[in-house]
Amino acid sequence: MPFTHSLSRHASGGRISLVGAGPGDPDLLTVRAARALGAADVVVHDGLVDPRILDLVRPEALLINVAKRRDHHSMPQDAINALLVAEAQSGQYVVRLKGGDPFIFGRGGEEMEAAHAAGVPVDIIPGITAALGCAAGVGMPLTHRELASSVTFVAGQKRDLAAQDWRGLAGPGRTLVIYMGLATAADTSAKLMADGQPASTPVAIIENGARPDARVLRGRLDRLADLVREHNVQSPALIVVGAVAAYAALTPQTFAIPALENAESE
Ligand code: SAH
Repeated sequence: MPFTHSLSRHASGGRISLVGAGPGDPDLLTVRAARALGAADVVVHDGLVDPRILDLVRPEALLINVAKRRDHHSMPQDAINALLVAEAQSGQYVVRLKGGDPFIFGRGGEEMEAAHAAGVPVDIIPGITAALGCAAGVGMPLTHRELASSVTFVAGQKRDLAAQDWRGLAGPGRTLVIYMGLATAADTSAKLMADGQPASTPVAIIENGARPDARVLRGRLDRLADLVREHNVQSPALIVVGAVAAYAALTPQTFAIPALENAESE
């Protein structure tokens, strides 16, 4: 069933858009995301969102940072859900802005369910997830007719890594993309090699992908944790395992494109 509603901030009822901010550069927002940011009364964002994207928010709008860091959780997910719902119920147009795509390791599903449970209209504005942004930024095709006909996104956090069955996710003709995998790089390579992947399988690490300070490292599966340590790789970073990883260019594969001539017209 199609479900659409007006984005006008003058509408009487509150509502929520879960908006993907993409990997960083405002150029990689969807047009719909940029419009939502320009219309929002309240923007609730996390730490991965680039400040240049926040510049698209109206000066009168309320900006709330609910950044989660490894060491201190500034706002638990339940509290974020409650905040979104409460602001919408007071009649505001709330944009929940998240790095990448809201539905890829972004807890967008939980926020959508909270809105549904409260009877608040919610829509989802997709964003370019880190895997796609990083791959494009370094000229690394995630699928390739000669090299890979499947691609899988996995989360590598310590909390549930041991319980995850990754058998068959990597291997000939397959690309495995690991989000949040820096701290568990050693466990990851051990896990994949125990599943039969050769030690020499190509890997790439993309730090700050699709951003001006992007860094790319390439190596082999048995040296994954060494790569992370020796190069002091910092979050956010993505790990890619498979033949296509050897394609990751060490310098950014992008160039400037002229601005839209009618960017200011409505
Ligand atoms: N919803 C986000 C993912 C959130 S999980 C998305 O769709 O992209 C956070 C993880 O995403 C990070 O630990 C890192 O693995 C990855 N990530 C996010 N932005 C990144 C970037 N610019 N470069 C590399 N990895 C990134």
